[in-house]
Amino acid sequence: MLLTGVMPLYEYEICDGNCVACGGKFTLRRPMSAPPLEHCPACRKPIRKIFSGFSTPTLTRPVSVSDAKKAGFTVLKRVSKGEYERQ
Ligand SMILES: [Zn+2]
Repeated sequence: MLLTGVMPLYEYEICDGNCVACGGKFTLRRPMSAPPLEHCPACRKPIRKIFSGFSTPTLTRPVSVSDAKKAGFTVLKRVSKGEYERQ
């Protein structure tokens, strides 16, 4: 089955300056086949696509146990079947 009606939501922001019409940042639903949008449809200023973290989580570095502890997580290590030990 062809997903002809799928319109992914893209988020854009103005490259430089501000825009009264769109507020400098806006989202648009566009067909996958549409050419990349390079200018604000309202003011014609150059825009760039923002990659939102919803579908592509950005982990810049691996989270270590100590980092997790610093962040307030309780780190549990699996010590044996069904048992966990606080580190
Ligand atoms: Zn604009």
